[in-house]
Amino acid sequence: MSILPFDQRDGVIWMNGQIVPWRDAKMHVLSHGLHYGGSVFEGERAYNGVIFKSREHSERFRTSAELLGFELPYSVDELMAAKDAVIRANGVRDVYVRPVAWRGSEMMAISAQNAKIHVAIATWEWPSMFDMATKMKGIRLDIAEYRRPDPQTAPSASKAAGLYMICTISKHKAERKGYADAMMLDWQGRVAECTGANIFFTRDGELHTPIADCFLNGITRQTVIDLARRRGIGVAERRIMPEELATFNEAFVCGTGAEVTPVSEIGPYKFTPGNISRTLIEDYAAEVTPKAPAF
Ligand code: PMP
Repeated sequence: MSILPFDQRDGVIWMNGQIVPWRDAKMHVLSHGLHYGGSVFEGERAYNGVIFKSREHSERFRTSAELLGFELPYSVDELMAAKDAVIRANGVRDVYVRPVAWRGSEMMAISAQNAKIHVAIATWEWPSMFDMATKMKGIRLDIAEYRRPDPQTAPSASKAAGLYMICTISKHKAERKGYADAMMLDWQGRVAECTGANIFFTRDGELHTPIADCFLNGITRQTVIDLARRRGIGVAERRIMPEELATFNEAFVCGTGAEVTPVSEIGPYKFTPGNISRTLIEDYAAEVTPKAPAF
């Protein structure tokens, strides 16, 4: 299947305060963000035109930039209005929303104190994967060689483009071996997360998930913990070593893109997608569905 490249699509993109034709939303090759990783982004989903937890995503977007030492030139409210405007302008209600910010061209060495901060917001169609039968088969995960870095080594709470370098390498290696994705350990050898999603396990009717102290504390992760507690399902956030995976029944990953997706295998460990995963898939689907369409 050939996919139309992302720079050759129709529609509009919000860029530095204006809605511009999709193909005109360009940056120069001499941009600090490209050369030195001075870039942060968000990944959000709109359901029926309404972005799930839009404010939380825009707050994280600003925090991600601050952790890299720059301030976005737009407030949370301005970013939320811009996201809504670009969704409406493109006229599609079920979309992925991709805000991105980067340091521009005014300075092209390590120091970028005076580089302009650019912000763009694009949306594209990405139907949500709530087909239960497919989901309940579960996905297969490799175990990545790269580990999530010590928070003293990298700004791990930032959704910084640079932190995804090891994710793409790990995902490619996993895909070459026939896996859907890879689970990553952290710098101490503990279970951490996947390349673009957080991870949960079940045992004796309770959820277990790693403490988000050196990787993104996903907005979906926080939502799943909340949904589970509302159902009276216990949630333990704790240190999980890989050997312990043998003691869990179910496993699932969660994130804006993945939503809640069961896992059937992680390296040598096998899991059986079951009732807790199914319940949380359904509860998450209900939670993200707006009471009324946005437009
Ligand atoms: N970890 C990583 C590395 C991610 O890329 C994502 C997706 N943004 C997540 C976790 C999940 O975050 P969220 O639930 O906020 O989408």
